[in-house]
Amino acid sequence: MGLANDKSSFDLDLFRKQLQYPNWYIRLSDFLNTKVFPIEDNPEIKTERHIFYDLVTQMLEENLISLAKEGPNFDKERKPIDTIVIHHSDEDPHMKLDKLSAIGFIRQYGSNYLKGEVNGNNVKGQPVWSGHFRNGKMVFFAYHHIVFPNGKNKRLLEDKYIGWQSGDWDINTRSVAIVLAGDYKHKSPQDNQINAVVDIIKQNYPFVSLGRIFGHREINPKTTCPGDQFIGGWKNTLLEAARTK
Ligand SMILES: [Zn+2]
Repeated sequence: MGLANDKSSFDLDLFRKQLQYPNWYIRLSDFLNTKVFPIEDNPEIKTERHIFYDLVTQMLEENLISLAKEGPNFDKERKPIDTIVIHHSDEDPHMKLDKLSAIGFIRQYGSNYLKGEVNGNNVKGQPVWSGHFRNGKMVFFAYHHIVFPNGKNKRLLEDKYIGWQSGDWDINTRSVAIVLAGDYKHKSPQDNQINAVVDIIKQNYPFVSLGRIFGHREINPKTTCPGDQFIGGWKNTLLEAARTK
C-alpha cells in the first residue's frame, strides 16, 4: 500500500495478519478501544485511524477478511418507517463508498461483535455478518441514503434493512438514516445539499411527519452529529423546504 509505518504503536503488517482472522475485532481490541472507537480530532490519531480504515477497505475489496456466510437476521424487528434521522459523515465528502462501508464494518459491527451480543444473539468470536447486500456484496453501511455536496445522492441500504445508526435500537427499527457527506461539525451545508435531502424525503417518505425528522444528536445526546449548526439552524431550513416544496 506504500503507507508509512514509522510509529512503534502502529504495526501495519501485524494488523494485516490479525484482520485475516474472523475474530479480528478481539485481536485488535486494544487498538480499537483507544485509537478508533473514541473519535478524537488529535491529528496523529486521526491519521492512524485512516491508515487503518484504508487497510480494511483494501482487504475487504480483496476478500482477505473472513466474513460470515450466514448469520442472525438482524432485521427481524424492522417496523414501518415513521422516523428520519439526519447525519453528517464527518469525513471527506468525496470518500469512496467502499471506505464508508469499511468504516461501518469497523465501527458499528466491530464494536457490537466485540461486546459479544447483538440483540440477544451471541456473536462472540464469530465472523462478522450484516445480512445487508448491495450489488451482490455484503455491506456495512449505517445509513440508507447518502447526499453529496453537489446535491447528487446514492442509495446505500434498502429500507427493509435496519441501519445501525442512531444509538437507539427502537429508533433504528423504525427509521431511515440520511447522511450528508462532509464535515458539518461547525458549519452548515449548502442549500442544494439540504434540498437534495428534502427531495429524498418527499419522494420516498412523504408519510413521515415533519415532527419525526431528527438530527442524530437529538436521538443520542452523546454525539454532536450532524454538527452544532443543525438545531435552530439548518434543521429549520430543511423543515421549511419540506413544508413548502
Ligand atoms: Zn450521526
